[in-house]
Amino acid sequence: MSGLNNNFMETILILAHTEADGSLAKTAREALHAAATLHKALAGSKLVAGLIGENVQAAANSIGASPVTQYFGVTGAEFTQARYATDAAAAAAVCQAAGATVVVAAATSRWARVLPGVAQRLGGRADTHVTGVAAADGKISVNRWYYRQRMEGVLTRTQRPWVIGIDPGSQPACECGAGAVAVELVAVTLPDSAQRTTVTGLREPKADAQTIRPDAALLFVTGAGWTKKQADGQTHVPAAEKLILDFLKQSRASLGSSKSLVDLGGEGQAVLPFLSHLNQIGQTGATPRHAKGLSTCCHGEEPHTVGWRFIGERRAISLDPNCGWARGKADVLYVADAFAVISKVNELLAAKA
Ligand SMILES: Cc1cc2nc3c(=O)[nH]c(=O)nc-3n(C[C@H](O)[C@H](O)[C@H](O)COP(=O)(O)OP(=O)(O)OC[C@H]3O[C@@H](n4cnc5c(N)ncnc54)[C@H](O)[C@@H]3O)c2cc1C
Repeated sequence: MSGLNNNFMETILILAHTEADGSLAKTAREALHAAATLHKALAGSKLVAGLIGENVQAAANSIGASPVTQYFGVTGAEFTQARYATDAAAAAAVCQAAGATVVVAAATSRWARVLPGVAQRLGGRADTHVTGVAAADGKISVNRWYYRQRMEGVLTRTQRPWVIGIDPGSQPACECGAGAVAVELVAVTLPDSAQRTTVTGLREPKADAQTIRPDAALLFVTGAGWTKKQADGQTHVPAAEKLILDFLKQSRASLGSSKSLVDLGGEGQAVLPFLSHLNQIGQTGATPRHAKGLSTCCHGEEPHTVGWRFIGERRAISLDPNCGWARGKADVLYVADAFAVISKVNELLAAKA
């Protein structure tokens, strides 16, 4: 469907799957916020929901006071687990049943791999990693970043349905309240071939080993300096490990790292055992969203700091007054020994607790 005119009425579908307990995740509420923003800005548009899961009634009721006027559901045990074939079939079916022209979903790992396929099945288009949506004069636009968060683009599309994957953490979660709603069930007939893949279990780090906390207010970044020879000519890796873990325990910060420090582990050198490539921030790592960031023992080179694009207030502790952080990458640079500073900070945090 192309060549939209100003009188065209969009049907905006918020697409979500339920969690194992039947609830909706925060990321789904963030996508709902984006969908509701579009709905509000587009006169005459409809906002509908498509929910997928074993049973979606509780999830639908949990957003019953939102501006959504119609709820569609694909339910059944076969739609509980993340599986491309069943997720794509269910998503395409609700989009069709709702006559959706715009589909908004959280770009979680589960949806991100399915959304482009859904757009293909429906003859539409998909955009991923969307960080903002807007509408003016009946025309929708979305924002996304390119070249590892160095450039921001604004796009519009005439093709429909337009499937929009919202980057988790880029939107506030919809605070809409609950209410009893009716869900129209959409039947999906699955061939056996759609159920060949089975999730046999989940492997995740123990709670105290889980250092990546997307919801934390603070990102705490460790650099290779923690493992380098210090003023006394010696390395102090066990002391570094204790300082960092104590800080994380007390601050509940999320742990990020420079590439150099993460790579050292792979090269068999003495490093911090709780770090993996998943902690890496930067051009070839992650670009997390936190209100504040504190970098320690890291030089602040461009391939690293480009991953700080969405960090609100940035501070760094480095011995080098000419490091990258001093060249406009940080709001505040403490030219100091991070061992001494973090030791003192830990002391103050312990006294406060
Ligand atoms: C294609 C490409 C992609 C890359 N992608 C990434 C990426 O995604 N993420 C990333 O991080 N890097 C990336 N890099 C590497 C990046 O350019 C840097 O090499 C890396 O970030 C350096 O890590 P670092 O600052 O921890 O280590 P170093 O450069 O070794 O810096 C250590 C710092 O610690 C300081 N220090 C030492 N002891 C102390 C102390 N006691 N107190 C305070 N400060 C101290 C030193 O003064 C120094 O500034 C990439 C590079 C390339 C070429």
